[in-house]
Amino acid sequence: MTMCVFCEIINGNIPSTKVYEDDMMLAFKDLNPVAPVHFLCVPKKHIESANDVDELNSVYVKHIFEKIPEIAKSQGISSYRIINNCGSDAGQTVMHLHFHVIGGVELGEKLI
Ligand code: 5GP
Ligand code: ZN
Repeated sequence: MTMCVFCEIINGNIPSTKVYEDDMMLAFKDLNPVAPVHFLCVPKKHIESANDVDELNSVYVKHIFEKIPEIAKSQGISSYRIINNCGSDAGQTVMHLHFHVIGGVELGEKLI
């Protein structure tokens, strides 16, 4: 079975610039940042998308959201936008659940 790109990053087969890691999650800088601070938070379990979050794996999502403030702080921001693209029509290109954390610039109020 071929692993997805984020599983490969988690397993160390593809290099990344890590900003945080523990036994449940990895946070690393996005390859194509859209803001001065742009990192991705991924569970260390292959969950395809937000559509696949359930009562068994939601602990990963809980953990990621508990950690985001401290990771953001370590990157010098306390104001940021969290984005999850769910499904290809919503712009999801990597089918491994991930949360973009974007900041370091005035983002404005418009969502899209
Ligand atoms: P999506 O469009 O699925 O919400 O976001 C996927 C994100 O993953 C994109 O912003 C893209 O730049 C990033 N990305 C894709 N491949 C890699 C990679 O190999 N390394 C890193 N660091 N980011 C990646
Ligand atoms: Zn994966």
